[in-house]
Amino acid sequence: MKTLAFNNGDQLPIIGLGTWKSKPGQVYQAVLWALEAGYRHIDCAAIYNNQSEVGQAFTKAFSDGIVRREELFVTSKLWNSNHRLEDVEVGLKETLRDLRLDYLDLYLIHWPVSFKKGVEFAQNREEYYTYQDVPLEQTWEGMEACFANGLTKHIGVSNFNSSKLNEILKTCKVAPEMNQVEMHPFLPQDTLVKFCKEHGMLMTAYSPLGSGDRSSSIKKADEPSLLQHALIQELASKYACSAAQLLIAYHVARGIAVIPKSINQERIHENLAAGAIVIEANDMETLKNIDTKYRFIDGTFYTGPRSPYSLEDLWEKE
Ligand code: NDP
Repeated sequence: MKTLAFNNGDQLPIIGLGTWKSKPGQVYQAVLWALEAGYRHIDCAAIYNNQSEVGQAFTKAFSDGIVRREELFVTSKLWNSNHRLEDVEVGLKETLRDLRLDYLDLYLIHWPVSFKKGVEFAQNREEYYTYQDVPLEQTWEGMEACFANGLTKHIGVSNFNSSKLNEILKTCKVAPEMNQVEMHPFLPQDTLVKFCKEHGMLMTAYSPLGSGDRSSSIKKADEPSLLQHALIQELASKYACSAAQLLIAYHVARGIAVIPKSINQERIHENLAAGAIVIEANDMETLKNIDTKYRFIDGTFYTGPRSPYSLEDLWEKE
């Protein structure tokens, strides 16, 4: 399995397993199948509300000798309601308890959006903190403390644009080492990829297959399909692979980690096997010019009259 190197030499397996929307009753088996298949990178988050089952799968895999802790790369994310300095470590410790781990490999600020303590998903203005109430620099200071305490080996962010990253870079002691964002041929994120590269940050692509199993409340009825797109299908036939594998191999070719979610044993295997597909430069160029541009996770659930945030706080201007 190809890996990406952090600045200290630690290695991140380029393909990982996503766990958002994997229900507690399914995720235990999915993680075990993934570890048995050879996955060594699992992407988790407190808000996925399934970390204790993921943790049970880790414990089982360690005790059965499928994998050793030090061979596994585990990412998790700080939820929006734990952004105050005093709450960051509390959030991470809850995650460690649920995952039954002593440390994480990577901890990310999930979104540059802050909710009041105890709020799972803010519904009105009163449930949000603004950047004046809880500056991102304060949350980052909490992340740095978790790193210094050895609770996580690496720290980073998710859904941050270059302007928000610059705010952190101005005051940080430890620079973010990862930015996890939505990425696929419909949303190549060229500007952000260039920025992160220039600042020595790795990237991870989320929703690489178009996140088709999202609930209808955060999905548009007329959204385009990545898996069905004619060019993706055509290139998949050329490489004798599935459309999903082509979409995963696209990130491997760009040197970007990718975390497809699946709870199906066959697809879990299929997605990992995509690591062996090498897309030629001319086909990457063709993919660059694909006719559809689209963001699936559009962020509108954080904006509008009942929120202090706007889409400019989230997305990069292309
Ligand atoms: P994906 O783009 O990974 O798509 C998941 C869907 O694709 C599921 O319906 C899955 O079904 C299906 N699928 C998986 N493999 C295949 C295959 N080989 N062929 C056809 N269909 C397939 O969506 P996600 O949004 O879940 O993104 C992946 C991960 O990224 C998340 O699970 C999460 O870990 C992370 N993420 C992070 C975010 C952030 O804010 N940082 C936001 C969104 C995601 P099935 O399970 O039945 O196989």
